[in-house]
Amino acid sequence: LKGAVKDQGLLKTHGFVGGEWMPALDNSTISVTNPATGEEIAKVSMMKGDETRAAIAAAATAFPQWSALTGKERGKILRRWYNNVLEAQDDIAAIMTLESGKPLKESKAETLSGADSIDWFAEEARRVYGDVLASTNPNSRMVVIKQPVGVVAAITPWNFPMSMITRKVAPALAAGCTAILKPAEATPLTALALAELARRAGVPAGVLNIVVGEPKSIGAKMLESDAVRKIGFTGSTPVGKQLMAGAANTVKKVSLELGGNAPFIVFDDAELDKAAAAVVASAFRNAGQTCICANRIFVQEGIYEDFAQAVTSLVKEFKMGSGMDPSTTLGPLISPAAVDRVKVHVDDALAKGATALTGGSERPQMSDQYTKGNFFTPTVLRDANIDMKIYREETFGPALPLFKFSRDEEAVKLANDTEYGLAAYFFTRDLARAWKAAEQLEYGMIGINEVAITSEVAPFGGIKHSGLGREQSKYGIDEFLIIKYMCMGVG
Ligand code: ADP
Repeated sequence: LKGAVKDQGLLKTHGFVGGEWMPALDNSTISVTNPATGEEIAKVSMMKGDETRAAIAAAATAFPQWSALTGKERGKILRRWYNNVLEAQDDIAAIMTLESGKPLKESKAETLSGADSIDWFAEEARRVYGDVLASTNPNSRMVVIKQPVGVVAAITPWNFPMSMITRKVAPALAAGCTAILKPAEATPLTALALAELARRAGVPAGVLNIVVGEPKSIGAKMLESDAVRKIGFTGSTPVGKQLMAGAANTVKKVSLELGGNAPFIVFDDAELDKAAAAVVASAFRNAGQTCICANRIFVQEGIYEDFAQAVTSLVKEFKMGSGMDPSTTLGPLISPAAVDRVKVHVDDALAKGATALTGGSERPQMSDQYTKGNFFTPTVLRDANIDMKIYREETFGPALPLFKFSRDEEAVKLANDTEYGLAAYFFTRDLARAWKAAEQLEYGMIGINEVAITSEVAPFGGIKHSGLGREQSKYGIDEFLIIKYMCMGVG
C-alpha cells in the first residue's frame, strides 16, 4: 500500500471524530485485504457504539456554527476539498484499487465522478431557494424557507468506495448539515483519505466524522440518537429495510439506494454491435458488482443468435488480474463469499437448461500470485429462463444471462417482473417503441441506447424495493433540507 501512494499522509487507519484521528476505545482492529491476492494491506480501528456516540456529539456540537455560514462560504470550503481530491486523484485511485479490487482505470473514473459530486454541491450550496406564496389572508404574508435537517448519518458500501460517500456527504455539508459517515468494512481506506483531504480543505472539526468498524453497533447508535435527523444509505435491500424500520422510532428522514436487478432489452431493430458493446460494458463493470449493472438480458428472437455471438466474442477478450496491472480489464470480486454466490447462480442456471457460451463455474486459470484472489471467469449463459436464480436474484458478479422474447409487451412484462426498480436499459431505433418502453418500465432510471447513465447533474435512485429519494442533481440537496413555512401577520 505504502509503495503505491505518493502522499503518505493520506494513509489513515483510525476513525475521524471531532477533527481528530481516533482509535477504537478498546484498540481493536479489523483487517483490510487486497481482493486480488488475499493479502492484508492494513489494519483499521474497529469502532463500535461508544465511538459512534462521540461522533454524533461532535457533529451536533459543530452544527450551529456550520449551518450559520452562508451557502456561499460552505461552497468555497467544498470547492477546496474538490481541488484537493483532484490533486490526490492518483493516490486515491491506487488506494481504491488495492482495497476494492477494481481495475485502476475504473478507480480513476470513480475518483473523478466522486469529485464531480463535490464540485456540483459546492455550487448548489448557493442555490437553496424558498418561496413566497400568494397569501389567502389579506392580513398575513406566507413564506417558505429551507433549512438543513440537522446531523446526518451516512452508511456506504464497498463497491464504490468514494462516489457513494461524496454523493451523500457533499450535499449534506452544502445544505449546512454536519455528518457522521460509516464506510464499508472492506473499503475504509478511501473514506479516511477523503476525510484527510476535507480536513486540509478547512472543513471544521466535527463537521465530517468517520466511524469505521462494527456495522450493527454503529448503525444502532445512529438509529437511536434523536440528534441524528437523517439517514442516507446505499447497500443491500435487507439492511436498507432494517434501517428504515429502525429510523421510525425517532422519525428520521431516510434515503435509501438499494439493490437492483436491471433488465437490458434488445429489440430486433437495435444496432447490434452497439448494443452488444453496451451490455458487456454495463454487466462487467466493477466485475458485475454495481447496483445498476445489466443483470437480465432480454433479446428478441430474430436477432438472438447474432447477439449471443457478438457478446460472447467481446467477453472472451477480458483480461483478469490485479486491478493495479494496467492491462487488467476485469478485477476480482470483493470476497470469497461473493465468488460463491456467483457460482451458485451459474450452477443453478446450467442445471436448469442454460449453456455457457464462455466461462462457467470452473476456477479461472491464472498465475500463482492470484491463488488466493476472489476471481470468477466472465460468463455468458444462453437459454436462460425465469425459473433460474439468476432471473430472480441479483447476482452481483461477472455472469450475463441471455433470455429470449418474441413480442415487445412480453419483454416489458419480464423486465418489470421483479421487486426491484433501479435502472433499466433498452436498445431500439424506433421512437414509438422507445417512448412506450420507457414509460412502461417500472424503474427510477432508464438508459435508452446508452448505459453510461450516471452523472452528477442527473437524479440517481430507484423505486419499489430499490429505494427512496434521489441523489445527485438539483433534487439531491432536498434530501438534506427541511421545509419551514412562516406566516407573518401584517394586519
Ligand atoms: P453489501 O452487500 O453491499 O455489503 P450491506 O448492506 O451489507 O451490502 O452493506 C452496506 C453498508 O451497510 C456497509 O457499510 C455495511 O457495513 C453496512 N451495514 C451492514 N449491516 C448493517 C446494520 N445492521 N446496520 C448498519 N449498517 C450496516
